[in-house]
Amino acid sequence: MATLRFKALGEISRREPIEPELSDKKISDYFGADVFDREKMRQYISKEAYESLCDAIDEGRRIDRKIANQVAQGMKTWAMEKGATHYSHWFQPLNDSTAEKHDAFFEPMWGGGSFETFKGELLVQQEPDASSFPNGGLRNTFEARGYSAWDPSSPAFILDKTLCIPSIFIAYTGEALDFKTPLLKSLTAVDKAAVEVCQYFEKDVDKVNVTLGWEQEYFLVDEALFLARPDLMQTGRTLMGHIAAKDQQLDDHYFGAIPDRVLEFMKDFEQQAYRLGIPLKTRHNEVAPNQFECAPMFEEANIAVDHNTLLMTIMRRVALRHKLRVLFHEKPFLGVNGSGKHCNWSLCTNTGVNLLAPGKTPKNNIQFLAFFVNTIMAAHKFGVLFMASIATQSNSHRLGAHEAPPAVMSVFTGSTLSAVLDQRVSEKKMTPDEKTEIKLDIGKIPNILLDNTDRNRTSPFAFTGNRFEFRATGSSNNCAAPLIVINTAIAEQLTQFKEEVDKLIAKGIKKDEAILQIIRKYIIESKNIRFEGNGYSAEWLREAAKRGIESIGSVPDAFKVSVRKDAIALFEKHGIFNEAELHARYEINMENLVKKIQIESRVLADLAANHIVPTAIRYQNILIQNVKGLKDILPDEYADMAAEEIRTIRKIARYVKAIRENTYHMVDARKKYNAMDDIVARATGYSEEVQPYLDKIRHDIDKLELIVDDELWPLPKYREMMSIN
Ligand code: ADP
Ligand code: MG
Repeated sequence: MATLRFKALGEISRREPIEPELSDKKISDYFGADVFDREKMRQYISKEAYESLCDAIDEGRRIDRKIANQVAQGMKTWAMEKGATHYSHWFQPLNDSTAEKHDAFFEPMWGGGSFETFKGELLVQQEPDASSFPNGGLRNTFEARGYSAWDPSSPAFILDKTLCIPSIFIAYTGEALDFKTPLLKSLTAVDKAAVEVCQYFEKDVDKVNVTLGWEQEYFLVDEALFLARPDLMQTGRTLMGHIAAKDQQLDDHYFGAIPDRVLEFMKDFEQQAYRLGIPLKTRHNEVAPNQFECAPMFEEANIAVDHNTLLMTIMRRVALRHKLRVLFHEKPFLGVNGSGKHCNWSLCTNTGVNLLAPGKTPKNNIQFLAFFVNTIMAAHKFGVLFMASIATQSNSHRLGAHEAPPAVMSVFTGSTLSAVLDQRVSEKKMTPDEKTEIKLDIGKIPNILLDNTDRNRTSPFAFTGNRFEFRATGSSNNCAAPLIVINTAIAEQLTQFKEEVDKLIAKGIKKDEAILQIIRKYIIESKNIRFEGNGYSAEWLREAAKRGIESIGSVPDAFKVSVRKDAIALFEKHGIFNEAELHARYEINMENLVKKIQIESRVLADLAANHIVPTAIRYQNILIQNVKGLKDILPDEYADMAAEEIRTIRKIARYVKAIRENTYHMVDARKKYNAMDDIVARATGYSEEVQPYLDKIRHDIDKLELIVDDELWPLPKYREMMSIN
């Protein structure tokens, strides 16, 4: 195998970019060329339709049928001019991908001839034959009815000659079957609650947007090697493989130059991204070998989420052209860092103020402090929901493994800001002088922050100067999953804040003082969640337990959090999910967990039985022949000379036996839990009893890998997969 592997590598050709002509152009020359943005809207639809569409985008107003027809007509004309032949609603069902169902504009007529058509009703609503998307029992297959509906707030775009229309996906009975529907609802909830709080400070504010800047980490693997690893192909991660002698110890990848072949791939997908209006800004190597990151300029959250999922699709496709494969799995390789997707989250008003950036005037700074402290409060009250929102089978391999925040919430504010907060608290009763002093102090916050270069990379929710960074999100997660929770929590918290402040004002306390009093109260209440130390350390886990911060033990436990009474009440109150939807998602998650572990278990059992054990035995037989030969030829010295071989023969026998036994036990465990009807029992059983066998079997296989002749070893090794040439 070894020779064959290297031969495959040698054959790889370097690829020309998809569109070589773009390489000579400025990015701004073609940025957004494939997007039906406002500029194209103005060109292709009437003023009346344009204004109505802008209202829908900015204010969430409904679009009537007549206008929808005009917009559809305009979109069709534009798309066909750009060579599109089909249209599709594009949505994010509850699995790891996006979904499309393409229909042609083309329509043949009775009696011959044909024309191209796209009506408003098709733009607005489509009925995908989608009985096989995850629905958690919300939709019985015999009435397989779910429909997608246009989301005008995210612009349509052209991908592969298809006009893609960002859409929500819901059951006929109205329940959401996707990520976007609850995300949009949560954005509306934040908007409403935040605008009300802004009114204390700034009467002009009538809209607050959530901003999101994601950072996407990923691995690249050479295609030939990828195709020779059934585990990577089928599960997205390696289920075996001894760590390479050299991986990330020297930190040389992080600081090193991006390999040429990778750079070509990056330029190629970036060009595609720019055409689609995705504002990518940074690209760099990450910590592990073959690990990379890209990040855009932040955008309004709904659009940012669409752009992230779209980019993942593009990266997968473009990689194929470069004979590479992108791995979005959180932990494709044991022993080196996994991949995350940091979500940088903030709030921005229609007047252009970032509510989490300290301002220039004392008034702005009290506003900043209010939003800042309320965010900490939200994390304090609902932190466990934050952590539960990103719990998946694949992300669990990364969380808590000394490289990503553990499944315990904490907030990092930086020591200087932390001192400012503590100071606010120490003042008991405010004299007029003290009030002035506070205001002066608050006025200093911007300077404090400028000096404050504190960074804590071990905190799941860190304040980084003008935003919070949620770092626990996995590289394959849909950003909407954590955003729905963070948004809902902040909406609830701001609503509460407003109520408390208004109560004090009603008692005759001045507005500013009322606000400061409640802020101070929150600073005291939420102190427990603030932690400036090393979030990966064992001490923090002990400390967190002492503080009474809830931690999540396992993936099924994380899912259970989302259907607790308090969670249901929170989501129902803000109109994000009803109880049926939460339960449906809960079931889908449990079901997914079982399926993922089941697939991994099957793949590993197959690899062990058909690849590893036979190889080990073949090598063992070579050794046995060798020992016999020594005995024949050198009877006197034999015992001494063959001692090591005999030890190895024994070792192989022991490993092979253990691998076989553990495989049988694993299959038995699967059978036991497959027979259980209750999905929670099944998921718990898979997680607690089936999954541990994966590690046990892997351990012995990895030992064999160190013993068996490299020429015989049937799979590419870590050291080969981790270098791109
Ligand atoms: P780092 O690796 O130091 O965290 P990066 O530059 O890689 O920094 O990523 C920072 C991300 O934060 C970018 O996507 C950036 O657009 C985003 N960001 C900056 N300001 C905001 C904001 N106000 N709201 C949301 N995201 C923001
Ligand atoms: Mg970051």
